[in-house]
Amino acid sequence: MTIRPSSFQKLILNWFDKHGRKHFPWQHNKTPYRVWISEIMLQQTQVNTVIPYYQTFMQHFPDLKSLANAPLDQVLHLWAGLGYYTRARNLHRAAKMVMEQFNGQFPDNLAAIQTLPGIGPSTAGAIFSIALNQPAAILDGNVKRVLARFQGIAQSIKDKNTVDELWKWAKHYIPSKRCADYTQAMMDIGATVCTRSNPQCNLCPLNKHCIAYHQNMTHLIPVKQATKTLPVRTATFLILQHKGQVLLHKRPPMGIWGGLWSFPEIAGEPVNENIRTYCKQQLKLDVHPFNLLPSFRHTFSHYHLDIHPAIIPVKRLPIRIMEDELQIWYNPDEPKSLGLPKPIQVIMRELK
Ligand code: SF4
Repeated sequence: MTIRPSSFQKLILNWFDKHGRKHFPWQHNKTPYRVWISEIMLQQTQVNTVIPYYQTFMQHFPDLKSLANAPLDQVLHLWAGLGYYTRARNLHRAAKMVMEQFNGQFPDNLAAIQTLPGIGPSTAGAIFSIALNQPAAILDGNVKRVLARFQGIAQSIKDKNTVDELWKWAKHYIPSKRCADYTQAMMDIGATVCTRSNPQCNLCPLNKHCIAYHQNMTHLIPVKQATKTLPVRTATFLILQHKGQVLLHKRPPMGIWGGLWSFPEIAGEPVNENIRTYCKQQLKLDVHPFNLLPSFRHTFSHYHLDIHPAIIPVKRLPIRIMEDELQIWYNPDEPKSLGLPKPIQVIMRELK
């Protein structure tokens, strides 16, 4: 069931001409900058979620210089809700790096693209091939699935040996012409035809040569990892209220929601005594007893967080105004351009 790269490419490109997706905003006025932003946003995020974020981002930062010159807070604000905020911080760092080290020009070779923060080999390959129409392999989750099934690779796609083998196949099949269309087509086939469950093999241009299809193994490949049960953590969010404003803290740059703004929090379920002591000792605030908003769960990639939002009226503020670059009093009715993680946005809406 072997197939020559030229035949493989022909099947893929013919399919792309008829069925490929050609309407996404980043597919027009293609530049390395625009493709780069789209590729980073599309990591871990569905395309329909990305489109409005991408459009807003481009309105504010139409080019690399505007992104590099923007305050990180503004970048995080426009990213808020997309999750995986390291992506936004890396974008900002990389834009500054391009301004300083590459004279403001997005690098035009694969090795240099990979030196930028947040850009691994697959993303670099996507930018290089889609924006510059140059031959480069990609191996995102969709392409891994297509190649694993096509080649009948029945080992976990998390194993290093399997990944190496998939890279070998990805490189084996890349064309020297129409590189942008080919890369887009491979992504599209993974996203729309060779889907995780119920792949539509009857519509797939690769079906004549696909090992998983012919051996009735599409439900077995890619080999699934045993699903891990995520641990559960509990936190009480302290919504300290004073004259219609709530206290927000800026989180440390690294870690969960790094650099974003959230409520002070303490581990565990809400207990009046713990809250009062924390507010007194850590925040120098005297508080009234709390009221609870409905609790909810937010899931990160490696744990669930059960959140108990406690509304806590503050008796009075200390004489010295308690604001600096790491904490502010925020009016939910007059929101500022701050990066707020999604659960904080949800609570703010409730407070309104
Ligand atoms: S034939 Fe089916 S399993 Fe094989 S690549 Fe196409 S959609 Fe995927």
